[in-house]
Amino acid sequence: MLEELLPNIYRIQVPLPNNPLRMLNSYLIRGKDRSLLVDTGFRQPECREALFGALSKLQVNRDTLDVFGTHIHSDHIGLAPEVVGHGRKIYLGAGDFHWAASDESNLYWNIMDERFLLEGFPQEDLAYLVHTNPARNYGPELDLPNYTIARGGDCFDIGGHHLEVVDAPGHTPGMVCLWMEEDGVMFTADHILYDITPNITMWPNMQNSLGTYLESLQRFRTYPVKQSLPGHREEGNYVGRIDELLSHHEHRVSETESIVTARPGMTTYEIAGKMTWAIKAKNWAEFPVIQKWFAVGEALAHLDYLCEQRRVVRIEDRGVHRYLPFS
Ligand SMILES: [Zn+2]
Repeated sequence: MLEELLPNIYRIQVPLPNNPLRMLNSYLIRGKDRSLLVDTGFRQPECREALFGALSKLQVNRDTLDVFGTHIHSDHIGLAPEVVGHGRKIYLGAGDFHWAASDESNLYWNIMDERFLLEGFPQEDLAYLVHTNPARNYGPELDLPNYTIARGGDCFDIGGHHLEVVDAPGHTPGMVCLWMEEDGVMFTADHILYDITPNITMWPNMQNSLGTYLESLQRFRTYPVKQSLPGHREEGNYVGRIDELLSHHEHRVSETESIVTARPGMTTYEIAGKMTWAIKAKNWAEFPVIQKWFAVGEALAHLDYLCEQRRVVRIEDRGVHRYLPFS
């Protein structure tokens, strides 16, 4: 679906087949000499069809099209190298650029796999995910040279709009949003989503991703936002949602802490199995493997946060990490 939200600003809904997120919101800021496409969808036929169809309907001259990737997740930049105009730019935040613009993205998966094994994730489940995790298979082709870093404070003037880059690390190390002060419009990407909670997980180049995310949320709370344009689904009440997300994580942090206190010495995998999840499965054993992977990443982000706050300690014991209350 294609919709004009403001003069020269369009929302293109890109379907994400078999994905619980359902849709990605791609946004086009259309200008005479230059247009900017915010996010693209997976490198998958259904996404390609929807995105390219909308761009041709809008008669966008691809030779003038740059892509603004809010973050490195494959549902956001999977098609960036295909859709970007010849010799044009793909913008990414610095912390994500690191993984996208080099062979390090393979390194990323190696580091993640090693860490997940340390956290007690079963080896056979990791092997299964190599072929089934969409993030591993529908990401962009990475050997193109036109990635460019977008830094907080950088500006774009396109289609009569002034857009400023705002750093929003947390969901990924280099997530970037766009702020249009004049209209009070914030492109919130996956930093602030409304009927889904943005996944906060461990990253090799972010020590305390949850702490970083919470800081970004607090900073975003100070913007006088009238309309927000999220990466998925619909928008809602901006400040209300930020407060909800803050208290959601506060609650999750104390839940994680009580699980560690109740039975010291568990791995992250075991701790994740005791946390509450909004997933339709009878018990932890019946969780789909991909959901276990997300759950363990999220539990780990909460444990990293608790370790940083000296409420929990991590010890290494015969090749796995175990967690104890801080005493
Ligand atoms: Zn997303």
